Amino acid sequence: MDISLPIRNEFGTGVVNSSLEMALENYLKPDLLEGANQYECSKCETKVDAMKGLKLTAAPQIVSVSLNRFTLDYETFQRVKVTDRVSFPEVLNLNDYMQGYEGIKDKLYDKEVERAQQFQQAEVNKNLEKEQ
Ligand SMILES: [Zn+2]
Repeated sequence: MDISLPIRNEFGTGVVNSSLEMALENYLKPDLLEGANQYECSKCETKVDAMKGLKLTAAPQIVSVSLNRFTLDYETFQRVKVTDRVSFPEVLNLNDYMQGYEGIKDKLYDKEVERAQQFQQAEVNKNLEKEQ
């Protein structure tokens, strides 16, 4: 099984994954389809709010993980390489990821969330400085 894990989220939603575990968690995090993105249910023949995501149902023999270190610079619309530090554990227990996002969302390390928020704030400050 090959997994390509984004280090930063595609649409500039501010997620900065500083570890492999965090990148996996955000990869498995479902998207809520609502508003203009509502899901067309074939049974009800109407648009409904829905969760869209993926779940690992069986642990593969071999997992190959690549870190997607590219993101889009919204000022230049150029692909830029993300050089953020990403830590990874010596042993990755896939069992933690087999129950879908519900099973892992509480495992996000407070420290990492805090780090991501600090980074986001720094980015916001940088952008504010640019605008002035
Ligand atoms: Zn339905």
